[in-house]
Amino acid sequence: MGCACAEALAARGVAVTLLERAIPGAEASSAAAGILGAQVESHDAPALRSMLVEARGLYAGWARSLHESTGIDIGYRKSGIVRVVLDETSTLGLKEEVRVHRAAGLAAVLLSAADVGRIEPEVTPEAFGGVHFPDDAQVDPRALLRALVVAISRAGVTQRSGTIVRSLWIEQDTCRGVVLDQERLEADAVVLAAGSWSSLIGGLPASLPSVTPARGQMVLLEERPPRMRSIVFGPSGYVVPRGDGRVLCGSTLEHVGFRREVTAGGVNTILDGTIRLVPRLAAAELSATWASFRPQSASDRPLLGASPVPGLFLATGHHRNGILLAKYSANLVADAICAGPCSPSPHAYGSFGR
Ligand SMILES: Cc1cc2nc3c(=O)[nH]c(=O)nc-3n(C[C@H](O)[C@H](O)[C@H](O)COP(=O)(O)OP(=O)(O)OC[C@H]3O[C@@H](n4cnc5c(N)ncnc54)[C@H](O)[C@@H]3O)c2cc1C
Repeated sequence: MGCACAEALAARGVAVTLLERAIPGAEASSAAAGILGAQVESHDAPALRSMLVEARGLYAGWARSLHESTGIDIGYRKSGIVRVVLDETSTLGLKEEVRVHRAAGLAAVLLSAADVGRIEPEVTPEAFGGVHFPDDAQVDPRALLRALVVAISRAGVTQRSGTIVRSLWIEQDTCRGVVLDQERLEADAVVLAAGSWSSLIGGLPASLPSVTPARGQMVLLEERPPRMRSIVFGPSGYVVPRGDGRVLCGSTLEHVGFRREVTAGGVNTILDGTIRLVPRLAAAELSATWASFRPQSASDRPLLGASPVPGLFLATGHHRNGILLAKYSANLVADAICAGPCSPSPHAYGSFGR
């Protein structure tokens, strides 16, 4: 969020300093699977659907412009998502799910068991059916973060890695800047984009919903030769083929504070769920595992745009969809800042208030 906001602000001619205690982008943003699952994710959150769909729509252009400005391909592909059900009872809700998406003008196709096999032949023959969201997509988050860091460097953003923000600098109920270990840094606007650590920064308004970490573990497999084409969601896991043999399998959702372990139970749950979906993955090489923290807000909504404190803007609490929402959020925050101190974005304030 910090890098994306810096890019959007620099593009609007704003002088930006990016403060990062370690390596920009190396936390949740590099751990993500990179699913741009606007439709599959809005299954459980219909209120967020239009925002997620709008965010997805920004990606093709963003991928093109980052490629032009940095030479880096961020791996944007409209690979589509197949959501598969593995028991007969679960097929009952599929028709209604498709109807809801179509009523909103979105592409969704009801799949029989045979259709599932045609769209993604690697899915288990035990599937009872599913839904295809052909417009959902993916991106390679590590490539995205590499591109963003190059883009903001070229755009003149000052990057201060190894800098810990201790607290906001609040004077007369206005955010004047931030307090670092040895100095205060003055700014016309401060963007809170500290992910799962956002609520640990001092001086935040008490009314701000807290942001806490929701650990997610990931498993990377290598299949040779690459066989899978589509992202596949099942009842207890998802599989994201990158197209070059890498297959990401995820994930867990655990509330264990900042414990960063990849656990035996976590890997077991992920592999159990994903091999059940795509049995041939049992023969793939287990290439890597990792874990990081999704920033989950107490309101379970992203905290976005102008805050109640003049000078303080929010880009945090994106939980499971921070990669999908990156460009959307960055534009919203940059527009709110450029609109001036008296013009908080009504949309953003709404997100914050709920
Ligand atoms: C396993 C997993 C899978 C995911 N899959 C997807 C997916 O498929 N699609 C999707 O859209 N989203 C996905 N997400 C969610 C997504 O990764 C997050 O929502 C998003 O990356 C959050 O971005 P962020 O910038 O808020 O947080 P982070 O990327 O965590 O960045 C926060 C940064 O703030 C820095 N920081 C913290 N405190 C301070 C301080 N005091 N001073 C200075 N710097 C500080 C940290 O070092 C860090 O670099 C996934 C997340 C996980 C963990």
